[in-house]
Amino acid sequence: MHKEAKKVFLKKDKERSLLNFHPWVFSGAIAQKERGIVDGDLVEVFSADKRLIATGHYNEGSIAVRLLIFGDRGITPDFWITKIENAFNVRKNLGIVNEQTNAYRLLHGEGDGLPGLIIDIYNDTAVIQCHSMGMYFSLNEITEALKQVFKNKLTTIYDKTDEKISNVQPAFLLGNKTEDVVLENAVKFYVNWSEGQKTGFFNDQRDNRNLLQTLSANKNVLNLFSYSGGFSVYALKGGAANVDSVDSSTKAKAWCEKNVELNFSNASHTFYCEDAIDFLKKTETKYDIMIVDPPAFAKHLNAVDKASIGYKNLNHEALKKIKPGGIIFTFSCSQVIDKQLFRKIIFKAAAQAKRTVRILYQLTQPADHPVSVFHPEGEYLKGLVLQVD
Ligand code: SAH
Repeated sequence: MHKEAKKVFLKKDKERSLLNFHPWVFSGAIAQKERGIVDGDLVEVFSADKRLIATGHYNEGSIAVRLLIFGDRGITPDFWITKIENAFNVRKNLGIVNEQTNAYRLLHGEGDGLPGLIIDIYNDTAVIQCHSMGMYFSLNEITEALKQVFKNKLTTIYDKTDEKISNVQPAFLLGNKTEDVVLENAVKFYVNWSEGQKTGFFNDQRDNRNLLQTLSANKNVLNLFSYSGGFSVYALKGGAANVDSVDSSTKAKAWCEKNVELNFSNASHTFYCEDAIDFLKKTETKYDIMIVDPPAFAKHLNAVDKASIGYKNLNHEALKKIKPGGIIFTFSCSQVIDKQLFRKIIFKAAAQAKRTVRILYQLTQPADHPVSVFHPEGEYLKGLVLQVD
């Protein structure tokens, strides 16, 4: 439970971005804070002339306060229910939750007005990740709100907050299910949220997998960084002649193979448990379509240069090896690498590979990962579909 909110005072003129509803207060904007403020505290943020501007969670670091409420209102008892209900209604109205899809992001941090909180739904399970201590301390309220909004239809609520924030192992807040077979566009996927990466599955590629399906008929497809085979299964569903999946994780191998089996009795699919670049370097020029979806190479601004080189080298190898006329789906999920920079990286890789490249599609995250217009940083997933002569 939160104690009474302590006070933080901004430097002169530093309230401007908050008046424009940007949900972060950077540490450099703070002139003064009440004594005794610690990570996770609920704080009220005041302008230099002592007007209450917003309320949020404090965290020592470059993003010092993540804002939950703007103006002079406090957190009301129905605050969490209203936010979660609103997020649920948005997904329902979009038609994302339907008979063919029961895996989706219910709540996407800043995009849904709750910075630091991620909730993914897998059938009747909710998996929560808190990215701030303030959110972690609010877990009881969040759990109660989930139960109420879902009218007790959730059987499991699992908290998968990183131990660096929670200081404890992930835990069940309701039920005890660790895995399930979920549906995404009527495709079956085995998801294991307790052992899997992030919340267990990458819901954010749903629309992009659909696009791949439409291009895959009779193609030889290479899915690099396949994880549990999201793109691989859709390519097979689209009639691919063959799919090869590559991931360095042995769990990815087990789950990817399982997901192919769950959907097809007789598919031409091989999994290679290897480093993706090593695989590319030794492969022949035989693939019509490649998917390049690596983990985030840059987690912080100071890692951008190194990450850019990593993306360039990886895409350079892919561009060298794609069959003439072939197509590459290439992605970056690093928030700190923006759209323009990613385009520049691909430009460099193409120039270096001396191949003619057309951009066919510019991809991003789906509607259940919305971006607040006040927080453009929330647009983290960038993808380009390249046609390579
Ligand atoms: N495309 C996937 C998500 C990819 S997540 C999907 O749609 O579900 C990134 C994956 O890259 C992880 O599964 C991780 O195990 C794998 N990975 C990380 N480094 C790797 C490397 N050097 N070579 C191959 N796979 C790697």
